[in-house]
Amino acid sequence: FEPWNDPHEKPLIQFRNVTKRFGDFTAIDNQTFDIYAQEFFALLGPSGCGKTTMMRMLAGFEAPTEGTILLGGQDIAPIPPNKRAVNMMFQSYALFPHLSVWDNIAFGLRRDRMSKDAVAARVEEMLKLTRLEQFAARKPHQISGGQRQRVALARSLAKAPKLLLLDEPLGALDAKLRQATQFELMDIQEKTGTTFVIVTHDQEEAMTVASRVAVMDEGRIVQADTPARIYENPSTTYVADFIGDVTILTGRAARADAGYDVHYAEGAAPLHAAFDIDLAEGETCHLALRPEKVSITAERPEDRRNAVQGKIIDIAYLGNLSTYHVEIAGGRMVKAQAANTRRLSRRDFTWEDTVWLSWSDTAAVLLRE
Ligand code: ATP
Repeated sequence: FEPWNDPHEKPLIQFRNVTKRFGDFTAIDNQTFDIYAQEFFALLGPSGCGKTTMMRMLAGFEAPTEGTILLGGQDIAPIPPNKRAVNMMFQSYALFPHLSVWDNIAFGLRRDRMSKDAVAARVEEMLKLTRLEQFAARKPHQISGGQRQRVALARSLAKAPKLLLLDEPLGALDAKLRQATQFELMDIQEKTGTTFVIVTHDQEEAMTVASRVAVMDEGRIVQADTPARIYENPSTTYVADFIGDVTILTGRAARADAGYDVHYAEGAAPLHAAFDIDLAEGETCHLALRPEKVSITAERPEDRRNAVQGKIIDIAYLGNLSTYHVEIAGGRMVKAQAANTRRLSRRDFTWEDTVWLSWSDTAAVLLRE
């Protein structure tokens, strides 16, 4: 994996030892990280982890208790929210109901005393960008939810901010429309070159739209990386568990050729992980194993060191694939996923079947914590 960040790329936003406290509660805990120009950056994490607080500090609605936030190399603390090259699009869209789509988009430009011609040119450009030309004369209640979302986006981008903050921008849309809109959002971000920071609860959404995803836990970014690196190389079991489906097998490490053997159950053969991390002999460690990397077969595969026998406890049939919950030695549960590439028949695996699970030496990520 190549990291997405080019070290020569210029950071647009720099958090430097930023802490935010509310009374004696620490909402953001000493965070130092960069967001790059033209990046689509997602903040992802469970409720209360500090995503909105991060956004509000960027927008200027909150000031850090300690530390500095730089925008284009300048401390933003003295700059009032309306003077920052930052705009925020709210989940509610906050459109003016009595104004037409055209006037909603023009509102901020007029307030800035832009000339009439310049306003018209800019509004037309935004209508085109968001494919709203034919709805220009309508009021917000005369268009669909998806179209309203695009009006809000057009309005937020009209003043050409350097940074656009999107707080659950697709939260109000149904699942199908949401997916289509994700691609639109990526397209618009690319066309405008504006840096987008999005807050979402939806990990799939973050993975789809963002060039980098920051996974947060209790006021800290645990890992900020490309979606592929977050998924394939999680830095902790928390990250592995937060993104996608995973089995965590905890055990004790023993040095072996090209990595470690992990002893996870009394009397069971150890599992092998070809990862070169620094573990002491006997140290507690974890294997993070994605279900789709586990093969499920009736016979023991001969070419794999990591093969364990187990019993199918549960099957989730999802159409294109099935997820099997398999109990192995020590009562541990391992999830295995198989693509249903042909129509299932009665001869396929079912509950209580004894099966073999196997995976390659690099399939399970070895983690310290
Ligand atoms: P959600 O996904 O539910 O919106 P979040 O990750 O955005 O959550 P924040 O809104 O940033 O979380 O809140 C982080 C923590 O800070 C929470 O525990 C919240 O209760 C606390 N907090 C936020 N704003 C204030 C405030 N004005 N006064 C006191 N505590 C606050």
